[in-house]
Amino acid sequence: MRILKTITETREELAKFKNKSIGLVPTMGFFHEGHLSLMKQARQECDIVVVSLFVNPTQFGQGEDFEQYPRDELRDAELAQSNGVDYIFQPSVKEMYQESFNTAVVLGRTLTDKMCGSSRPGHFQGVATVVTKLFNIIQPEKAYFGQKDAQQLVVIKSFVRDLNLPIEIIGMPIIREEDGLAKSSRNIYLSHKEREQALGLYRALCLGEDLIQGGLLNRSELIGRVKDFLLNQPGLEVDYFEAVQAEDLSAPDILKGKIIIAGAVRAGSTRLIDNILVEV
Ligand code: AMP
Repeated sequence: MRILKTITETREELAKFKNKSIGLVPTMGFFHEGHLSLMKQARQECDIVVVSLFVNPTQFGQGEDFEQYPRDELRDAELAQSNGVDYIFQPSVKEMYQESFNTAVVLGRTLTDKMCGSSRPGHFQGVATVVTKLFNIIQPEKAYFGQKDAQQLVVIKSFVRDLNLPIEIIGMPIIREEDGLAKSSRNIYLSHKEREQALGLYRALCLGEDLIQGGLLNRSELIGRVKDFLLNQPGLEVDYFEAVQAEDLSAPDILKGKIIIAGAVRAGSTRLIDNILVEV
């Protein structure tokens, strides 16, 4: 495995593989089983696997955790190598955003005016812009993203389709701890007590899933019931709880087909997101 730090050397290196399929796994590092599941899938489906490791400042808002975001490059390199990754693309902020950088991928509001988009203004524009740059630099045939960031996955599929980018976007299931907590690099911020309390979000999502499976498809009633439960979970501050159609995040009065129930909470100062995909 090689670690590539500049765009020029990355382009030169990957140009060798003109007739091979390249799979890209975009990440911000501090790997856990969720990241590794994407790498393993890419390894199975592609000739060359590239993992990008870049904590992207433009997707963090003011007062968010860009500076504190956990980093462990040596451990990440070992894990990537042992999971069959061929290259890590690990640029500096300067390499990705030269001083004169002055461009953004602008997204329509229907996918971004809700859920994480309304709690984190500008977040998805930052994601879409950096992912577009990564796609242009690496030129993968396939790119792998986790369902953990459900809204991000819908946004990425949408701009890839709208801008005719020749890349297949592959969504992968959420990897969880044994008790159900979704794996996340940010879980490291949690104290022992917060770690226990964080499970309240998963419990609320499971309640939502049960209610839907039991036939409750009236969206506002569903949200009301689950939110009441979530608000009663000790130690959690609720950011949002939503139930939307999985394909386009639309919010009809009566849900149908593939539904995402999703929530964001704060446990102490740590913001956690999670979701469950339910099909009726
Ligand atoms: P991040 O490094 O947090 O930006 O995540 C990089 C990729 O890993 C994104 O596509 C995430 O959706 C995905 N990911 C993060 N956590 C999980 C998880 N628990 N299960 C599956 N994929 C995940």
